[in-house]
Amino acid sequence: MSTTLFIGLGHMGAPMAIRHARVHPTAVFDVSGEAVAEVVRSAGAVAVDALDNLPADVGVVILMLPTSRHVESILLGAEGLLTTLARGSIVIDMGSSEPDSTRALAAEAARRGIDYVDAPVSGGVPKAVSGELAIMVGGTTAAVERAMPHLDVLGASILHVGPAGAGDAAKALNNLVSASNIAVASEALSIAERFGIDPGTMTAVLNEATGRSQATELKFPRYILTGSFDSGFAYDLMLKDMSIAMGIADGLETPVVDTVFETLRGSRGRLGDAPDHTEIGRLYGLGTTPHDPTEKETSK
Ligand code: NAD
Repeated sequence: MSTTLFIGLGHMGAPMAIRHARVHPTAVFDVSGEAVAEVVRSAGAVAVDALDNLPADVGVVILMLPTSRHVESILLGAEGLLTTLARGSIVIDMGSSEPDSTRALAAEAARRGIDYVDAPVSGGVPKAVSGELAIMVGGTTAAVERAMPHLDVLGASILHVGPAGAGDAAKALNNLVSASNIAVASEALSIAERFGIDPGTMTAVLNEATGRSQATELKFPRYILTGSFDSGFAYDLMLKDMSIAMGIADGLETPVVDTVFETLRGSRGRLGDAPDHTEIGRLYGLGTTPHDPTEKETSK
């Protein structure tokens, strides 16, 4: 069995790499040496200190990086992994990437005899830890079959949605809905509060009625109403996903989600450095000192 190189050990990548390393021989790399040391300590993975110094038998690469720019920087160019990996290898990009970039990378990989699969995930840090992520996969059937033993370790639901890039498109659309659910429920809870209904009580109502979503069932009780705002999914990564989704709409009329996207993008300046995406609730004074959500935006 070849060694899997897992790159990107952040909020999601670290718990995923730990699970992966318990089943498959795994080497790990991140620009943060601390992140590498933590995964090596927890799961006995092999540390990689530089991408030009890999174990000789790497045949699988899993990427869990913030954006397509990070993925491209690692795969392309004279020193890029698509040049240095052996023919017959497979790259599995599990970050939420851009479909166009993924299609181009998959085509470049194919020219070099390397399989490429986009397999972004949903479920956040808790499901990464428990190995119950929802994984939406793009790629050829043969490539997806090759990726399955690696995805099985990480996900409870694995859906092959189409060719390269389709997994990324499905993921961006999922997050468009997910972010919109938080925004709409935040507004409903602030209206409830104005009316005199406690936001916790209103959340309980939604969860017994048809307004419920994963946001009302998990994010409001755990991260928003408590004021912890520590889901581990950054507001800026959420905006990136929404921007990808709006990009693939490609001129289709989508007035409702256009408004949600512009509102959340326009509100970014009202939050501090590196806010969590659950801080959408903070914009409405949920989980914090009450605050007027109609206050003028400071940044677009
Ligand atoms: P993160 O910022 O916590 O982690 C990214 C990691 O990549 C960091 O450890 C960083 O040091 C590393 N990195 C950056 N550039 C690198 C490079 N050139 N070489 C090696 N390592 C590098 O991000 P995250 O929250 O784990 O998200 C990763 C991806 O997963 C994103 O695409 C995100 O949109 C997606 N995602 C996140 C969540 C979540 O709940 N956090 C859920 C689903 C999907």
